Amino acid sequence: LHNKGEKLITTHCSYCGMQCGMHIRVSERTGEIKGVEPRYDWPVTLGKLCPKGVTAYQQIDHPDRIKRPLIKKKGKFVESSWEEALSLIERKFTEIQGKHGKDALSVFGGVSMTNEKCYLVGKYARVALGTRFIDYNGRFCMSSAAGGFMKTFGLDRGSTLPWTELEHSDCFLMAGSNTAECHPTSIQMFWKARDKGAKMIVIDPRETPTARIADVHLDLKPGTDSALANGLLHLIIKEGYVDQEYVDERCNNFEELKASVEEFTPEHTASITGVAPEKIIKAAHIYGRSPRSVVMFARGAEQQSKGVDNVTLYSSLALLRGQIGKFASGVATFTGQGNGQGGREHGQKSDLLPGYRKLTDPEAVKYISKVWGIAPEEMPKPGVSAYEMFDEIHNGTIKAMHVICSNPAVSSPNVEYIWEGFKKLDFLVVNDFFLSETAEFADVVLPTTTWAEDEGTTTNLEGRVIRIRKAIEPLHESKTDWQILSEIAARLGRGKYFPYKNPREIFEEFRIATKGGKADYSGITYERIDKEDGVFWPCPSEDHPGTPTMFKESFGTPDGKANLPAVGWEEPGEVPTKEFPLRLTTGRVVFHYLSGNQTRRIDFLKDQCPEPYAEMHPELASQYNMSDGEMIRLSTPRSTMELEVKLTKATRKDIVFVPYHWGKELSVNKLTNPSLDPVSRMPEFKVCSVKIEKL
Ligand code: SF4
Repeated sequence: LHNKGEKLITTHCSYCGMQCGMHIRVSERTGEIKGVEPRYDWPVTLGKLCPKGVTAYQQIDHPDRIKRPLIKKKGKFVESSWEEALSLIERKFTEIQGKHGKDALSVFGGVSMTNEKCYLVGKYARVALGTRFIDYNGRFCMSSAAGGFMKTFGLDRGSTLPWTELEHSDCFLMAGSNTAECHPTSIQMFWKARDKGAKMIVIDPRETPTARIADVHLDLKPGTDSALANGLLHLIIKEGYVDQEYVDERCNNFEELKASVEEFTPEHTASITGVAPEKIIKAAHIYGRSPRSVVMFARGAEQQSKGVDNVTLYSSLALLRGQIGKFASGVATFTGQGNGQGGREHGQKSDLLPGYRKLTDPEAVKYISKVWGIAPEEMPKPGVSAYEMFDEIHNGTIKAMHVICSNPAVSSPNVEYIWEGFKKLDFLVVNDFFLSETAEFADVVLPTTTWAEDEGTTTNLEGRVIRIRKAIEPLHESKTDWQILSEIAARLGRGKYFPYKNPREIFEEFRIATKGGKADYSGITYERIDKEDGVFWPCPSEDHPGTPTMFKESFGTPDGKANLPAVGWEEPGEVPTKEFPLRLTTGRVVFHYLSGNQTRRIDFLKDQCPEPYAEMHPELASQYNMSDGEMIRLSTPRSTMELEVKLTKATRKDIVFVPYHWGKELSVNKLTNPSLDPVSRMPEFKVCSVKIEKL
C-alpha cells in the first residue's frame, strides 16, 4: 500500500462528518508527511476519500501556516513569543473583567476539533473565564437537527442507525442534502443499495448530482419543507401506509398530527412548494411501500427559521412507518463538521453542559460543578446563541471574544454585522493555524496544530466515537488548543482546574462528566475504540456494547414514547417582494470545506473552484437579458455583491444559488438573513429574498 521507508498512521480525515478512515504516510527517515492513503478496512467508507480528503495532508506544512503567535501593533501583525502573547491576553482579560464583569468576555467555539478539545472549550469558558457567553459554530450547522430530534425522540444523536446498514435499505428520502458533493464517500452505500433495488427520493430546489440519480426529485421552493413534509405525511396516512401498531404503542400525538396534515392535499402542497402533485404522490407511494427506509436531511432543510419544524416533520415520516429502532431503517442527518456532535453534547452550546445536561437543571449544575471542582454557585448561567452574541457585542455587553477553531467572519449570516461587531470589541483573540478572515480582525492570533499534530477522539455522523492519531509533533511554534486554553487558565489563576498532560487525561474527565447524562460516553475508552474500531454513544459502562441502533425499546422522552408534533407551515423569515422578487439559496461544492479557510489554500481544490458564482436557470437569466459568464449584482435587504453568472437547467427558475466558501467581498453571507429558528436559534441561511441586476 505504501512506499518503502514510510510508516502509516491510522486516523480519519480532518474535514466532514463522514470522518473517512485514512492512513497518513510519514517518512521513517525524516519524519515528514508524504501523503495519505484511504483505509480499505474502515467499515463505513471502505477505502474511499473525496478530493478534500486526498489533499488534506497539504495543509499540514503549508507555507501559510501561522508559525509563531501574532500581535497586532499599529494595525499590523507582528510575530511575538508565546510569553508576550499570553501575558497580553492575561492582562487584557483581567482588565476587561475587572472593569466590566465576568460576562464581558465571550468564547466562540467550533466543532472541527476532537471531543477532548470541544469539552475543554466549554469548561474553559465557564471555569477559567467564568463567563456565561459561550456558543459555537455548530449553532450554524446542526442545531435544528438537534432541536428536532429532541422534540421528536427526546434524544439527539445524529443517526438512529449505523451506516454500515444503509446498503440493506430499500428507500432513501433525502431532504436538503447534496450528498454527492457534501459527503461524497457515502454515495457508494446508496449505490450498493440501489444495485439491490433501493429507491431514492431527493428533496432539493436544485437538480444536484444527488438529485440526478433519484427516482423522484421533489424540486421545492426554498423555505417550503414543512409544507412538503406535511403533504407526504397526509398521503402516508390517507393511503394506509401507517404502521398503526407501532404508532399506538410507541408514539404520542398521532391524532393531532393526523388532523393537522388533513389540509395538505397534493394540490394544496403543490401550491405552496411548487412541486407537481403527481411527483408528491409518487414519492409518498415509494416511501410508504418500502419496508426499510431511511429519512436523511442536511442543512438545506435545517438552516431555516422553521428548521426544527422541518426536522420533526421529516422524522415523523419514519415514525408513522414504524421504522425507528429497526435494521437498515431510521433517520439521520448529515453532519457538516468532522465532530459535528462535539458542541452540544460536550458543553459548547450556551445552554448545555457535558453529557447533554441542561444548565437550567440544578442537579446537572451540581453534578458538573463537582466534576470540575467548583461550587455550583460559581457555574455561569445560560448565555445566548452564536449570532446573538454579536448583538451583545453591538449593545456593549460583550467587550472581548476568544474565537477557537471557527471563522464566523465568513460563516455567519449577515456577515457585515459580524465584521462591525469584531471592530467594536476591545480585544479579540483567535486560535487558528491559518490567518482566517476572523483572525485578521484579531488583536492576538495563537498558532494551533492541525489534526495530524495531536491525538484524541471525534464522533462521526453515525454517533460512532473514533480515534484521531498524531502523525508528527507540532510544527513551528504551534500548540494544541487544549494546551493553549490550559495555559491561559493558569495565568488567570485557574490552573488547578486544567492540570492535563495529554488528551487522554481530558477524555477520562470527559467520560466522568458525561456519566448518567443523555449523551453518556462513560463506557468508552481509547483501548475500546482501538479494539472495536469505534464505539457508539450512548455507552454507559465499559461492559456495555455501545448503541449502534437507537430507540430499539424506548425513546429518550420521560414516558419512552416518541412525539409526533403537529406543525403546519409558515412562510420563511423573508418572502419575495416587488423590490427583491427572487429567492436566494446557498450551499457547498465538493472541493471546499465550510468557510474555505483550509481548502482555498490547497492548489488543486482552489483550481477546481476558485471563486463563487451565481447559478441560475437560462429562462430566468433571459428575463434579465443575462448570459453565461456575465457579471451581475445580487442585492438583498442587507447588502450587495457582484458575481459571475453560471447558467444551468438544473436549478429552479425562480431562485439563485451561490456557494458560500469565500470571505470578504466574495462572501454570500453578506446577503443571507439572520432570521432565527425560535427553538434552535439557527439562522435562515437557506432562503432570503434577492434582486438581480445586470452590470
Ligand atoms: Fe471523507 Fe468528508 Fe474527508 Fe471527503 S471531506 S474524505 S467525505 S471525511
